[in-house]
Amino acid sequence: MNTRFLVVGATLADGTRADLLVTNGRIEHVGNGLSATGATQIDADGLLALPGLVDLHTHLREPGFEDSETVLTGTRAAAAGGFTAVFAMANTAPVADTAGVVEQVLSLGDSAGYATVRPIGAVTKGLAGEQLAELGAMATSRAQVRVFSDDGMCVFDPLLMRRALEYVKAFNGVIAQHAQEPRLTVGAQMNEGALSGRLGLTGWPAVAEESIIARDVLLAEHVGSRLHVCHVSTAGSVDVIRWAKARGISVTAEVTPHHLLLTEGLVAGYDARYKVNPPLRRNEDVHALRAALADGTIDIVATDHAPHPAEAKDCEWDAAANGMVGLETALSVVHAAVVESGQLNWADVARVLSYTPAAIGSLSGHGQPIAAGAPAQFTLYDPSASHSVTAADLAGKGTNSPYIGRTLPGAIVATFHGGRPTVLDGTLVEDLNG
Ligand SMILES: [Zn+2]
Repeated sequence: MNTRFLVVGATLADGTRADLLVTNGRIEHVGNGLSATGATQIDADGLLALPGLVDLHTHLREPGFEDSETVLTGTRAAAAGGFTAVFAMANTAPVADTAGVVEQVLSLGDSAGYATVRPIGAVTKGLAGEQLAELGAMATSRAQVRVFSDDGMCVFDPLLMRRALEYVKAFNGVIAQHAQEPRLTVGAQMNEGALSGRLGLTGWPAVAEESIIARDVLLAEHVGSRLHVCHVSTAGSVDVIRWAKARGISVTAEVTPHHLLLTEGLVAGYDARYKVNPPLRRNEDVHALRAALADGTIDIVATDHAPHPAEAKDCEWDAAANGMVGLETALSVVHAAVVESGQLNWADVARVLSYTPAAIGSLSGHGQPIAAGAPAQFTLYDPSASHSVTAADLAGKGTNSPYIGRTLPGAIVATFHGGRPTVLDGTLVEDLNG
């Protein structure tokens, strides 16, 4: 395939119009009226050119759960959603708690070719919450792990959390906490409140999230280390994080697309596509999360893409697995939740879905503004399109999307990863070396 591309008439995140000349993996020129002999020309009239999206929270499931997703299928889903880099969570089998496993995930990402894959290392061995994993060995491995998380499980033991925060300071690592007080959430099935009482489902109280965040920001302050809070879901959590930031504590936070758009009322139909951890919350929480993303209290959007085989969801609510796929629809959901409302503009979207997640994860080569000399990681998005989501739109293995049958704004027209298209004309490129 040609390795020179001329993108003509794109609109950049700041609203200016420009042509982009892509050569040898880099953006060679940004300007108007560019021409280039022999370049493949892409008409981008009416399309937004955004920096390649970066997801700090993806479950790729490999090794061990390849019937849910593989590194290849998960990064195809990423490309389809405009992502050029994903951080792969550690809850695989074996758990990514050694240099060997994180290097394996790194290699699988390199050979898949659809997006840069940065492994996240487990905080504790086997995610068991008892002994620290080999954080230093993972940091100095070929995978150069900088983000550590037991996601799916909370690092509940405060001494282990303190030790982990202390350990990663040496290499500017960050602990990404899944904030869930385990004793307060035994058997939890949905948000705790009037609705859980009416439906007869065990509640997951907001305080189970907020109390862990409060403890952890204080630990991060005490140790002088970096904390990242995964999938913030309640208004009270926003208050705690706002307080911590005002105090100068080094904490960052993410919100998922689904917590920006969906509410607990959807649980009333017992459709397990809406079962997720942390659960969908109240309307007031959704409003607080949107406002927090707009004012910078919440730093980024991260998908928590969590694919499952159909049988894990086609069952009774209590027995169904937690999680939703999210890579393919993330940009459209953010568009619907906070761009259409005027709370974020496209420059903000570039910040929360590209620049800041790359910075939190110490990822180079991604998360940079589209400019001459930058690596050619970008996506072309049609903001005036709208589409009814179908299973066929989902490029990964999982079809557990809460948006199937819903109409969402926008469409990914092209994604460039390292100067090569992974998506063109709205379709995944099948042969990346063709
Ligand atoms: Zn989690």
